[in-house]
Formats: sequence, structure tokens, C-alpha cells
Amino acid sequence: MKDCIFCKIANKEIKSDIVYEDKYVVAFPDINPQAPVHLLIVPKEHIESPYDINERNKDIVGHVYIIIKKLAQRYGIDKKGYRIVSNCGDDGGQTVMHLHFHLLGGRFMTWPPG
Ligand code: IMP
Repeated sequence: MKDCIFCKIANKEIKSDIVYEDKYVVAFPDINPQAPVHLLIVPKEHIESPYDINERNKDIVGHVYIIIKKLAQRYGIDKKGYRIVSNCGDDGGQTVMHLHFHLLGGRFMTWPPG
């Protein structure tokens, strides 16, 4: 998708410190980290938001969760726990309109979120 920052990162048009990549996803650090570990896991396919998950593309979600588990192990946050966030739309706090999953860890998370 033209003018999508996460498409550009996934296509290597914009440089980013990609920490994981396979055929379906890339993962890289959030530019504005909210926890000691804050990665974004991003499907390579341009899907706008969680609202656009459908029968055709639903498998990406399970794949992302498996990659998150591997990254949590790699970053040493698997034992104490972590948070996965996928904001949806304006009220959900989504600012980049390309489906992504925040992996946050390395500190205690409060609830409810702001
Ligand atoms: P959202 O607000 O849930 O859509 O999350 C978007 C996230 O992308 C925010 O946490 C931003 O800090 C992050 N972000 C925006 N641009 C970049 C970038 O170029 N590299 C890494 N993270 C980014």
C-alpha cells in the first residue's frame, strides 16, 4: 500500500531494526517505547486494522501469536509475562492504519489502559 509506513518498513523502503522476519510478518522496535521491551509485529500484507480480519486472512493472527511467543522467549519476558495490544480504529487508539500487534514487557502492566 502506497504511503503506508509499515508497508514501507516491511518492504525495506524505510530502514528499521528488523528483529524478526519471515514470509508473513516483520517485527521491529516501536519508535516510542512504552516498556523496556516494546516490539511491533506486523503482517506483510496490508490489512488496515483488526476489524479487517476475515475468513481469508485470519490465519495471520495465529501465526503472529506464535512469533510473539518466540520473541518473548528471546527477550526474556516469557516467564514473568507480557502484554499484547492491537488497537482498532480511532477510539481504540490506532494511529497507524496497518494491522500490528504491540508486544510489551519487562515491567508490570497496570489495568485499565488509558
Ligand atoms: P498504534 O497507535 O496502536 O497504531 O501503534 C502505532 C505505533 O507505531 C506507535 O506506538 C508508534 O510509536 C509506532 N511507530 C510509528 N512509526 C514508527 C516507525 O517508523 N518505526 C517504529 N514504530 C513506529
